[in-house]
Amino acid sequence: MRTGTTALCFATVFFCVIGFASHTARYATAAVSAADQSDLVVTGATLIDGTGTASRPGTTIVVRDGRIASVAADGEAEIPSGATVIDAAGKFVIPGLTDTHVHFGLGSPVARQPDTIDKVLGRLLYYGVTSILQLGATGGSTDSINALVERRAEGTLQAPYIYGTGGHLTLHGTHPVYTIFPSSVQAFADSLSAATPMNDPVDLYSLGIGVSFVRTKEAARKAVQERAAGGMHAIKITVESGPTPFGDDHPQMSVEMIRTIVDEAAQHGLRVFAHVTSLDELEAAMEGGAAGVVHTVERPPFPDAALAQKMADANFVVVPTISIYAGLVSLWYVDEPFSLDDSFLTETVSTEQVAALRNPRFIQGFRRSGTVHVEPGIDPAHANRIRMDDLLSNVGMLHDRGVPMALGTDTGNPYVFPGFSVHRELELLVQAGLTPMEALEMGTRNAAELIGVGDEVGTIEAGKRADFLVLDKNPLDDIRNTRTLEMVISEGRLVDRKALLGSVKSGIR
Ligand SMILES: [Zn+2]
Repeated sequence: MRTGTTALCFATVFFCVIGFASHTARYATAAVSAADQSDLVVTGATLIDGTGTASRPGTTIVVRDGRIASVAADGEAEIPSGATVIDAAGKFVIPGLTDTHVHFGLGSPVARQPDTIDKVLGRLLYYGVTSILQLGATGGSTDSINALVERRAEGTLQAPYIYGTGGHLTLHGTHPVYTIFPSSVQAFADSLSAATPMNDPVDLYSLGIGVSFVRTKEAARKAVQERAAGGMHAIKITVESGPTPFGDDHPQMSVEMIRTIVDEAAQHGLRVFAHVTSLDELEAAMEGGAAGVVHTVERPPFPDAALAQKMADANFVVVPTISIYAGLVSLWYVDEPFSLDDSFLTETVSTEQVAALRNPRFIQGFRRSGTVHVEPGIDPAHANRIRMDDLLSNVGMLHDRGVPMALGTDTGNPYVFPGFSVHRELELLVQAGLTPMEALEMGTRNAAELIGVGDEVGTIEAGKRADFLVLDKNPLDDIRNTRTLEMVISEGRLVDRKALLGSVKSGIR
């Protein structure tokens, strides 16, 4: 008996008509371009470099022009004159974290109160997330992403390094527009679709939605070409036909269509990642040649070790995105999936927002919008524990079989908090059976490799972008020690976290 499945990117139902949030705010802290900075040197730290090698105590990292110039034992490094030196004796340095599953314009954990995109990006950086991969949904046209990239480069936006897919490619009639959006939006989308030639993609950007319908192969090729021309880093598709709560009657993208998109993307050096939530969708994505999937199979326990082996052999990447299941999806069963009094969370989330998430009207509204079957007589909290156990065991099994995995959270949905949820995802990965080192690698090196920028970032090695964090306590002893974050270095610049906090704290507007 099913006890429920998932609604992904669910929040779009609340925010779809609000669209891409305003991004006019300016921060008090002026950013300094990397070239203008003096050299930065961090000494004495225990280095966990993200390559998987053992941690190295007493390490000096020299940063120049936004890049790591050298990594050496204390005393062996040449300290440039005039450098800013940070004594990190007794501290721990890890690569900056990367969230590979982020949606723009859905920033607030509270329905109908979206934060500005600036706040979302600032909060990610505050929590040590130095790179993100945007994956479609609300906002998310190539132009809107490139505008953010430009503002960040100018120094008027405090943000992680932004990689993007632009709007995601999906079929007319399925997720997300025809699963979780109001019928009024669907009617708009229908009329746009009717007015668009079949061989053109139907872009929903004018509705504030980062989605394009592709109804023919030619339209799909055009959509990929537009994203490639716009400088995007990957292509996101939706392969979703249910089961509940989206229903089972939505069209699923065919293997042939997936193959067409993959083929076109490959001609531009781009890889394709698919949203899936069930086993058959995952198999279709694989057969069509996608490079990986975001989300995974929640229930029942992943039955097919042979498939996992096939995924591992094909280097097929999974972004398990446990945070959405352990947060928003769990809200179907329990009133508060995890404590909103967590002090690490309330650093950036106001008491008003916590109250709004606890509001029974919000919770009931969410539950009414989906179809979850809890067997009569079964305690919902118990049902939730079973499904979470299944999910965690699925993730552990994929990991044990050697399936490559990277960290993502689905930030942009309620109960997935920008930045905070990256730390929470690390904890959930350890609960799934990974070691703290393996979980960290998912959020650093593996994430960079998924985006295709493993040569550029993701580990702390000479020549790479200087994105790293200083922690007070050892995350290998306890993964929750990533919460002892003291410093964020982004492209060689020490982020003023205190000033940033003043700008990004969430509030009810
Ligand atoms: Zn998502």
